[in-house]
Amino acid sequence: MKYFQLIVFLVSVTFLSGCASLGTYNPATERRELIFISTPSEVSMGKDIHSQLQREYEISYDLVKTGRLKNIGQRLAQVSDRQDFKYNFYLINKDEMNAFTTPGGNIYFFSGLLDKLTSDDEVASVLAHEIGHCAARHTVKKFQAALGYDLIGSILLSQVSPENQMRNVLLRSSNTVMSLIFSAYGRQDEFESDHLGLKYMHLAGFNLDGMIKAFEVLEQNSKGDGRIPLILRTHPYIKDRIIKVKDEITRYKKAAP
Ligand SMILES: [Zn+2]
Repeated sequence: MKYFQLIVFLVSVTFLSGCASLGTYNPATERRELIFISTPSEVSMGKDIHSQLQREYEISYDLVKTGRLKNIGQRLAQVSDRQDFKYNFYLINKDEMNAFTTPGGNIYFFSGLLDKLTSDDEVASVLAHEIGHCAARHTVKKFQAALGYDLIGSILLSQVSPENQMRNVLLRSSNTVMSLIFSAYGRQDEFESDHLGLKYMHLAGFNLDGMIKAFEVLEQNSKGDGRIPLILRTHPYIKDRIIKVKDEITRYKKAAP
C-alpha cells in the first residue's frame, strides 16, 4: 500500500507541475495561474455551499433591500474580468457587519452592514471588492489550497468523476467549508481586490470615494465596545489598504479629463 501511495503522490506532483507550466492566464491578475477546479465544478461547489448557508442563516427575501443589492452588484458584475459564471447576490438577515464570497460567484452581504452603509457607492465598494476576489480567483484558490492534495488523491484513486469527488469531500467536511469561508485572505489578495474593486467601480460609473467612506464606517464601528466588525477579520490590513486605495483614487482623478 505504501508503494501505491507513493505512486499516487508522484503522479499528483507531476500533474500539478504540468499544470503550473501551462497554467491559465487570468486577465484580472495578469498572471498565469494554476487552477485545477474547473468553472462547472466551482459553480456546483458554490451551490452545495449555498445549501449549507441556507441551513445556517436566514436569507432575506425583502424585495427593496435585495433589489438594491442585486442592482448594484449586477452593474459591477457586468464589468468584471471574470465572466465564465453568473454572479449571485444574497442578503443575510443578521445584525453583523460582514460580507463574503464563496466559490462560483456567490456573494453574501449581512443586513447589519447594509444598514450602516448609506450611499450606493459605499455598498458598491464592498461588492466590487468581493467581485475582485471572484475575478482574481482568490476564493477558489483558498479552497483549492485546503482541499487540494486530498482531493487530487481521491480523484486519482477513484473512478468517480472529479465533480462528484469534490462534492463528497465538501459534504463530508462542512466544518472545514465554513471555516474556509470565514478565514482571512492574505495581504496581497486584499490589495489586489481593492485595486480590482476600484477598477470595476470606475467602469460601472460609481464614485470611487465610496470605498474610503465605507472604510471609515468600518473603522468607526471598530471602536466603542472593542468589537471588530467580522468583515475586517476576513478582510484584514485595513490601515495599509486605506493608504493604497487613497493613492489609487488620486491617480484615477488625475487621469480623468
Ligand atoms: Zn477582501
